[in-house]
Amino acid sequence: MALSRQLDKRHIIFINRMFPMKIREEKVSRYSVIFGVGGNVGDVRRRLNHLWIYLSRLSQIQRVQTGVILKNPPFGYTKQADFFNTVIEISTSLQPRALLRLVWRIEKHFGRVRSFPNAPRTLDLDILFFDNRRIHYPELTIPHPHWSSRASVKIPLRSMNRTFRRQYENFNV
Ligand code: ADP
Ligand code: MG
Repeated sequence: MALSRQLDKRHIIFINRMFPMKIREEKVSRYSVIFGVGGNVGDVRRRLNHLWIYLSRLSQIQRVQTGVILKNPPFGYTKQADFFNTVIEISTSLQPRALLRLVWRIEKHFGRVRSFPNAPRTLDLDILFFDNRRIHYPELTIPHPHWSSRASVKIPLRSMNRTFRRQYENFNV
């Protein structure tokens, strides 16, 4: 069962059993991390459900909560299908670069093939926030550079439980 709400001509919010949701978990690791997730190839909403279940089996992270799913138009290369985006909060004791390597493994598991920038994708997993840290490595920028200008991030973020905001308030979420 899924509910939807049309925001305007090309933006639709979807709600289902797993998005949004909050886990009542005993175990919470050191760092709080927000992932931005999206895709526009195949049945993305189904894949997001599979991702949420898949994350529960990874020992290096603990699931915390999810946001609503937003269907929205592509940017950059616009001759492609609309995207479905959401956000996921997890906790972890991994350091940022180790987490990025795990992100690459997860994308690969879900069939991600890299072609050109802004190309269609089965699953794009970005690290939006890592605690309240600012990180600049050649392969990793946190907070993710475009998060604040994208409805695909902001609308799902706003739907999440607000407690996380305390950590990120420096970034004016
Ligand atoms: P995009 O997400 O911008 O559409 P990709 O998913 O293809 O593009 O990512 C390209 C590279 O961006 C990744 O291989 C990674 O090294 C780098 N990157 C930089 N900052 C981040 C971040 N915060 N989260 C995920 N990847 C990042
Ligand atoms: Mg990415």
